[in-house]
Amino acid sequence: MKTIKYPEPSDWPALCERPTFNFSELEERVGAIMTDVRSNGDKALLRYSKQFDAVELDSVTVDIANQEFKIDPELADAIKMAKSNIEKFHFSQKEEIKVIETMPGVNCWRKSVAIQNVGLYIPGGSAPLFSTLLMLAIPAKIAGCKNIVVCTPPSSGFDANTPPLEKPACRQGRGAEGDFNRKPSKPVEYLNPVIGWTCQLLGIEKIYLTGGAQAVAAMTFGTESIPKVDKIFGPGNQYVTAAKQLAQNFGVAIDMPAGPSEVLVIADDTAYPEFVAADLLSQAEHGPDSQVVLVSNSEKIISEVNEEISKQVNELPRKDIAVKAFENSQSVLVKNLDEAVSFSNEYAPEHLIIATENAEELGEQITIAGSVFLGNWSCESAGDYASGTNHTLPTNGYARNYSGVSLDSFVKKITFQKLSKKGIQNLGPAIEKMAEAEQLQAHKNAVSLRLKKIKKDPETS
Ligand code: NAD
Repeated sequence: MKTIKYPEPSDWPALCERPTFNFSELEERVGAIMTDVRSNGDKALLRYSKQFDAVELDSVTVDIANQEFKIDPELADAIKMAKSNIEKFHFSQKEEIKVIETMPGVNCWRKSVAIQNVGLYIPGGSAPLFSTLLMLAIPAKIAGCKNIVVCTPPSSGFDANTPPLEKPACRQGRGAEGDFNRKPSKPVEYLNPVIGWTCQLLGIEKIYLTGGAQAVAAMTFGTESIPKVDKIFGPGNQYVTAAKQLAQNFGVAIDMPAGPSEVLVIADDTAYPEFVAADLLSQAEHGPDSQVVLVSNSEKIISEVNEEISKQVNELPRKDIAVKAFENSQSVLVKNLDEAVSFSNEYAPEHLIIATENAEELGEQITIAGSVFLGNWSCESAGDYASGTNHTLPTNGYARNYSGVSLDSFVKKITFQKLSKKGIQNLGPAIEKMAEAEQLQAHKNAVSLRLKKIKKDPETS
């Protein structure tokens, strides 16, 4: 990983740039996929599965309830523990209704109501992220969303402990190109069993096997099989992220732009280099377009972390991906930890690990980040899987203006008010004055008529 020594603040914006595709080219490609799905529905989805996932399916729907999924019992226990922690944390985000009397006779309150139709995208291009299913479906269920539509790419990850690294160009003998006599495959053959099992645990009855921009298009417009939704959630690669942004032009809301993962680690001499290296590698292995940044006031730590990375990377099954991600990554040597915090706030990381003495104190100065991990023992993997916080977080600098997914993401907040006769008498004259000043006579009349009625007949109900 290259090291930038003592950069001037004027150099920081360039150092904070993320590796992204050319957006206009991406938008064109993704826009074409979305138009195709809008016109051709399921037919287009099946065609794209063949093209991008090398799988020829006979439909996109798996009825989860009718299947049996076998997974390693220890993994099942781990998922149940993660579920319990994620539920606890997200349950605690439920808001009590508070009725506020703003002035005598004027009561206002706000109620959270679930978004009825939500679409969850579970990434699965290179690794089946069943953890994302937990992170999205649990708050959707707690919020009370009525229809939860789940899409994930067809996967060849039949063994959850060894997910596939690369997809074959085509699946010989399973109905893909290359064997025209075979019938297309049943989608359940390409559903990762851990995702299927987790769906059953969470009470999700159906899952749709389609990925990338086409899945987002399906949830935006609806197809013969996949219902249209009101809001789309979930991380994904550049195609998924671009499609979610385009979906907003068609009346669909999105959680946030959550693209290729990134982590920034602030470390001082008290950090364990092997921990920091492992944390950086854990993001680098997500995808070749992931980015990791180490910011330190210690040249010694930077060099030790780099040594550790070189050792640990060789042991990783996803080494090639991690090595590519390191091409987009860097260490930054700063004068002191205050400068490290300022750099981090400028970078706006999705994940921030503070591995320093007094990590909590430094954490207080953080104004921009998706999720923060304090101290040597708080690895990012804890939040990725099982501590309870949500791992769907804003990337690419969007931590500046977006929060990560939470229970709030699945509800709309509706305001209510009730004015008594006393209330309208107290508030009315001010409204009349303001409406008149804005030359909105009908607004004024709505108050004046009520005040007149009360004056004429004080006993009116
Ligand atoms: P994915 O499910 O996002 O994408 C796979 C799909 O991309 C394929 O099914 C295919 O349809 C489409 N695709 C592939 N090549 C294409 C092409 N040339 N043209 C058009 N479409 C194409 O899975 P992935 O690729 O493994 O990416 C997962 C991403 O999610 C990673 O970048 C990871 O960093 C990110 N992630 C982010 C967060 C977060 O909170 N921000 C959390 C977890 C994962």
